[in-house]
Amino acid sequence: MNRRDYLRSTLGGFALLGTYGIGQSLGEAASTGSQSGMAATGMAATLGASPEQYILPQLAYSYDDLEPHIDAQTMELHHSIHHQGYVNGLNNALAKLAEARENNDFALVKHWSREVGFHGAGHFLHAVFWDVMSPDGGGEPADADLRRAINASFGSFEKFKAHFVAASGAVEGSGWGILAWEPFGDRLMVFQAEKHQNLSPMVTVPLLAVDVWEHAYYLLYQNRRGDYVRAFMNVINWDAVARRYHEARRMLG
Ligand code: MN
Repeated sequence: MNRRDYLRSTLGGFALLGTYGIGQSLGEAASTGSQSGMAATGMAATLGASPEQYILPQLAYSYDDLEPHIDAQTMELHHSIHHQGYVNGLNNALAKLAEARENNDFALVKHWSREVGFHGAGHFLHAVFWDVMSPDGGGEPADADLRRAINASFGSFEKFKAHFVAASGAVEGSGWGILAWEPFGDRLMVFQAEKHQNLSPMVTVPLLAVDVWEHAYYLLYQNRRGDYVRAFMNVINWDAVARRYHEARRMLG
């Protein structure tokens, strides 16, 4: 795996496309100049300035596969409407910045940079979120290295779990609970991302993320975010988390 593939699979939404056999991933589209992603985003007309398109990753499971933990209607709205909105917003902001470079007019650079931060973080974190869930998930990691890292960083899996559930449940406003690998100390960290632009240790590599925006749980759980986060623990795909952990350490360690 080269650095580009690593970034594609670990930090962005592209891994899902390749992993799940979508005909042409965004990365391939970008490298060949193809505009295959445009049909998915419906933004071809506004994106002429840049051939590179982010597209909505397909899921490796059906919308109803995570029930009873996460309901099908929430999954469908969340993936097809909310996540698609981030993808569209990111593509649009990047196109506007390409226009700005073309015209050497950066009057709105702050606005569009914020849009990239908001929609980019939304797109990438949702890609992680889908990737780390599975109808066969839950339990504890089987991977010995990840188990060791969790024990070294948090004391035990149970302590990690309590910490992760508490931190995710206590995110103020909308945001994410995140388990990340920190490359300088080679350790794992749990942190909160408020509104997903803020409070994020920038160099860390998210391995696991739970969406705690209300759209992620309100239909089934209403205000009971803690119940939702505890249910999320039952669908974590620890093999995917372990894969991300090993890829991160191999490329950046
Ligand atoms: Mn969301």
